[in-house]
Amino acid sequence: MTKTHHSSFESAKRVVIKVGTSTLTHKTGMINIRKIERLVKVIADVANSGKEIILVSSGAVSAGFAKLGESGQDRSLEEKQAAAAVGQCELMNMYDRLFSEYGYTIAQILITKDVIDLPIRRNNAVNTFNALIGRGCIPIVNENDSISFEGLKFGGNDTLSAYVAMITKADLLINMSDIDGLFDSDPRKNPNAKFISEVDRIDDSVKALAGGAGTVRGTGGMVAKLEAAEMVGQEHITMIIVNGERPDILYDIFDGSFVGTVFKPQ
Ligand code: GLU
Repeated sequence: MTKTHHSSFESAKRVVIKVGTSTLTHKTGMINIRKIERLVKVIADVANSGKEIILVSSGAVSAGFAKLGESGQDRSLEEKQAAAAVGQCELMNMYDRLFSEYGYTIAQILITKDVIDLPIRRNNAVNTFNALIGRGCIPIVNENDSISFEGLKFGGNDTLSAYVAMITKADLLINMSDIDGLFDSDPRKNPNAKFISEVDRIDDSVKALAGGAGTVRGTGGMVAKLEAAEMVGQEHITMIIVNGERPDILYDIFDGSFVGTVFKPQ
C-alpha cells in the first residue's frame, strides 16, 4: 500500500492512544514483549516532545488467561473477570518497568460506565487525570473489568477510549488496531478491498462498510471504532485508526505521513 499523506497532527497537545489486545499480545494470549517494549519507547519519546499522553490499554483478560495457563475461549463472565484481575497486574507491572526506563511514572485508572454517566464521579476522574498529567505521569486506563456489572460490555476499549478523550478534552484520539484503517470491504477476505484514508462524515454508507471487520482476540471490530469516531467527532475531536503492528507509526502521525484512516470532527 502506498503511503498516504495527511495534514500533520504536530499541533495536537493532549492525545489519547488506544491499543488493542491483538496489538499487545501474541496468539497464545501472552504479552508480546517486543511490541510492548517498542510501544512504550515511542510513547515516552512522543511525551518527551511535549505531548500529554493518556494510554488506554486492553490486554488484561488475555494476559490473565495466559498467566493462569488457561485458554480464553468460551469462558463465563466470572472467569473473564477473574482473568482480568490477574492480567491487569501483569500488564501494569510490564508498563511500570518499561516506562520507568525512560523516566516516566505511570498511573492506573480503571473506569466503569457509571463514572462517565455520573457528573460527580466524572469530575473526580477528570480532576485525577489532570493532576496526574500536571505531574508528568502517564495515565494508563482500562475498564474495571473485574467489578464492572456491564461485564466487559462497556462497548470495549474502543468506546472507553472515546469517553476518555471526551472527558479529558483531548485534541486527538489514536486507535491502534490490527488493521490499517477503514476499507470498503473486509481486506482479510477481499484482496481488492479499497482503503479509505479520510472520512468527513460518518453516515449510513460509511457504517455499512464496517460490518464484520472485527478482530479475533479483542472485543472491538470496526463497528465499535466507527461509533467511537462518531462520539468524539461530535465533540470536535479527530480520531485516527492506524495499524499498531509497528508502534513507530505514532511518529508518522505527528510527522503527517502515515497510513491510516482519519475521521474528521463533525
Ligand atoms: N478491557 C479488556 C481487557 O483489558 C479489553 C476490552 C477490549 O478489548 O476492548 O482485556
